[in-house]
Amino acid sequence: MRALVIEDEPKTAEYLRKGLSESGFCVDVAVDGAEGLMLANDGDHDVIILDVMLPKRDGWSLLRQLREDGKTTPVLFLTARDEIDDRVKGLDLGADDYLVKPFAFSELLARVRSLLRRAPILQSQTLGVADLMVDLVSQKVQRAGTILRLTAKEYQLLVFLMRHAGEVLPRTLIAEQVWDMNFDGDTNVVDVAVRRLRAKVDEPFATRLIKTVHGRGYVLEAV
Ligand code: CA
Repeated sequence: MRALVIEDEPKTAEYLRKGLSESGFCVDVAVDGAEGLMLANDGDHDVIILDVMLPKRDGWSLLRQLREDGKTTPVLFLTARDEIDDRVKGLDLGADDYLVKPFAFSELLARVRSLLRRAPILQSQTLGVADLMVDLVSQKVQRAGTILRLTAKEYQLLVFLMRHAGEVLPRTLIAEQVWDMNFDGDTNVVDVAVRRLRAKVDEPFATRLIKTVHGRGYVLEAV
């Protein structure tokens, strides 16, 4: 799951980034409306968390443009002003839900999950390869009927591999996609994470799904 947070207050942005990462999301952060619109249009996000008051371009204008551009990514907007007009305006412009600041992270996460459940783009809420299944909403992972307990990062890595099942994925690509944009280039972290993931996903079972392709990267596939 990929989330885009568009928020200019550093503390709130960091709080959201940290919380969502720990909840299994890969998080991009934009600090103004112009950057936010660019990332929203370029990226393949499952949900956007949009602050209303932003420099360069406010949340209203960003949302209107996004919908005009045909982007249907679910948007949860954050407003500091507890006024009914603002909420109605946001929903009219194509926001899917709103939250009034200050809010508890648990409430935000519940709203985000609810948006993901009803998002039309998520017609398939599960990923499956052979006997390995991931439910993208509840984030439950199971293989051959056994529930597997993964860390947030292991989960993100597995979802990325499964979304690209059958494709050989270079370490640098995995690092950029799973460890966010400012990855420092040391792909050892990928090898270590793959090893940990295999210990849970592959080793207890008869067949191996995550394979090393020498000199190229990793692939998850059934055969
Ligand atoms: Ca703001």
